[in-house]
Amino acid sequence: MNSELGRVAVITGAASGIGRGLAEHAASVGMRLVLADVDAVGLQVLCEQLRAAGAQAIACVTDVGDIAQVERLRDTALERFGSVDLLFNNAGVMQTGFSWEISPQQWQRMLNVNLLGVINGVRVFVPLLLQQGRAAHVINTASLAGLVSSPLMAPYNVTKQAVVALSETLHYELAMLAATVSVSVLCPGPVASEIMASNQTVGEAGSSFSQLLDSSIRQGMTPLELAAQVFAAIDEKRFWILPHKDFKPALERRVQSILEETNPQFQMIDVQGDAHAAR
Ligand code: NAD
Repeated sequence: MNSELGRVAVITGAASGIGRGLAEHAASVGMRLVLADVDAVGLQVLCEQLRAAGAQAIACVTDVGDIAQVERLRDTALERFGSVDLLFNNAGVMQTGFSWEISPQQWQRMLNVNLLGVINGVRVFVPLLLQQGRAAHVINTASLAGLVSSPLMAPYNVTKQAVVALSETLHYELAMLAATVSVSVLCPGPVASEIMASNQTVGEAGSSFSQLLDSSIRQGMTPLELAAQVFAAIDEKRFWILPHKDFKPALERRVQSILEETNPQFQMIDVQGDAHAAR
């Protein structure tokens, strides 16, 4: 992938999990990196590790929910490297519990990070990418939950489905303009990461569900394996990135239920793809 040499990637939520895997992959193909996260320590550790391996990387502590901080991230990237080629709107957090038991503050946190964070990334960076007038790509991390809802994770489903909608809209808009900028939406199933540490479990049901989720995430795909698939999709300018093929039947069932106007039936799916009724 020599074509990546010297290009610039901005990655939010870079200090851990998927973001970290994307950063390590991007560094391995010679990209220059602008790493953003609220976790200043984790960010610094990663930045030093990548620099020690020969990469050009800078850390910019950023809360993606705060537009002024996202503008500062863009300005920092431009000051240091002069342009941006890839933007990964990746930062995200988890919240489990019955929809009606989740507090207004917990809903707000999910909306701020998972949805407003991506909206801010699009609003701040897309005008710059368009203005640059050359190939650039935006990758929004949604989730399988962006396509299929599970019980006990309403704010996650809501925000991730909104990210899918935003990404599809952006795709159509960029096509309308025949822009050199393109977009992908990443919808993974379980990937080994620290996301469950951000979960503020509510209630007994939320707690048992979060244990299930935690064990599935621990056994998930590695972030580096995922990153290789993401970069292959970027090369193809592919909009949909669904790295866990085992989940496609669940998506098919959902679409079928909508088309036939039958009531949705939730089925828990494990990482191997065996589906069993959850209740
Ligand atoms: P992670 O917790 O390992 O990494 C997320 C990173 O985002 C952390 O470093 C965290 O500090 C950072 N972050 C949190 N709030 C932030 C904010 N306001 N501003 C900037 N950074 C912030 O989790 P992960 O699984 O690597 O999550 C990355 C993305 O992947 C998220 O959007 C998540 O919803 C999505 N995702 C994860 C999985 C999975 O199974 N791990 C599956 C599908 C989608």
